[in-house]
Amino acid sequence: MKYSLILLFSVVFICVQYRSFSQTRCGSHVHQHEKLESNPLLKQKKRKLDKQIGDYLKYNKKSLSSAVMTIPVVFQIIHNGDPVGQQENLSNSRIMAQLDQLNADYGRTNSDAANTPQSFQSIAADTEIQFCLATTDPNGNPSTGINRYNIANLNNVNQAACWDFDYVDDKIIRPLIWNSTVYLNIFTTIRLDNRENGQCLKDELLGFASFPGTNSDVDAAVHAYYTIGSLSSPNPDGGQFGMGRTVTHEVGHWLGLEHIWGGFDGGCSEDDNISDTPLQNDSSTGCPVAPLYDNCTSSGPGLMFMNYMDYSDDACMNMFTQGQANVMVAAINVSRPGLLSAVCGGGVTNPNCDQINVVNGTINSDTYKASQTVRSAGQINANRTVIFSSKGTVCLDAGFNVKAGGQFSTDNVGCQ
Ligand SMILES: [Zn+2]
Repeated sequence: MKYSLILLFSVVFICVQYRSFSQTRCGSHVHQHEKLESNPLLKQKKRKLDKQIGDYLKYNKKSLSSAVMTIPVVFQIIHNGDPVGQQENLSNSRIMAQLDQLNADYGRTNSDAANTPQSFQSIAADTEIQFCLATTDPNGNPSTGINRYNIANLNNVNQAACWDFDYVDDKIIRPLIWNSTVYLNIFTTIRLDNRENGQCLKDELLGFASFPGTNSDVDAAVHAYYTIGSLSSPNPDGGQFGMGRTVTHEVGHWLGLEHIWGGFDGGCSEDDNISDTPLQNDSSTGCPVAPLYDNCTSSGPGLMFMNYMDYSDDACMNMFTQGQANVMVAAINVSRPGLLSAVCGGGVTNPNCDQINVVNGTINSDTYKASQTVRSAGQINANRTVIFSSKGTVCLDAGFNVKAGGQFSTDNVGCQ
């Protein structure tokens, strides 16, 4: 108990210190800590889940390099009445730029992949996880995968309130969330606030997400609107955090990743429990130059400040490791199994199709041999060619697309 108190005070102290200099990049660990401390059952569940994920990693090494899986995404845009395309009422093209950045980062097709130091190139991973806009809602109705909510039409929501974790969970996420077992909910808000010592610190937080095991009614990734963008289309209001890497980071938490330096303030005894990320004392800021060392890692390739799960500027992070990819795949299998069969066309497979292995993701094999009907709701990335040697039928769900340079061919397409 004594140790816990010391830890908690250290956390609070470090956070206060950090926030006095700049915004907090991420509130996920504090958000989780609050939830776990107020709910012993949840704490127990989390402990069990961590062990199951560890066991999965231990006993399922083979299946960790499985086919690409694609997670249906719904963007929940919270705005204050501004026209679409203005500030917090993000344009569709900005949302698509964010989705592209997310897919590039998780697929290791990010345009700045070459910036990963040579010494880390061999462990930089294509996570084999991709994301697509949902094309139907939880009731099976057609959807663009983008919902817009004017706060004037939401119950008891007002801009002047303190938009801290509790407020956002209770007033925004809980009433609006789509079934989080089959959709990733990406919320964007006017701003996010922190509450400390009874004081509300406005616009102090960039994002937070719930870890696997969180109660499903608040199980989402949440972001201040100005973080939504991409390297090629940065959000003009986001400064060094406007290139979409906050979403990449928060979705990493949603899929079970810790910060690269551990949960809170680090120290050399706290780790993310992933063997191919170096020990790191604390979060990084700005845009360091490699090799960078600290008291936990003082030789070799140095710190991995360019990892998406650190706090460096958006333009200076560019990789996940294979170990992180494995944890995310394990977390999906153990704690988010609904995502394995979720498709962009609506969270469930189409009963009209004789579906087998659901190929509902970005397809990155050169040839996929289909012996029966195959569903595909994903996309083919640029410069990839996919030829279906199909004995059966390929069903293309709405939302399927081939990016510039990508090629797709099959002799038998149906179920469109
Ligand atoms: Zn974080």
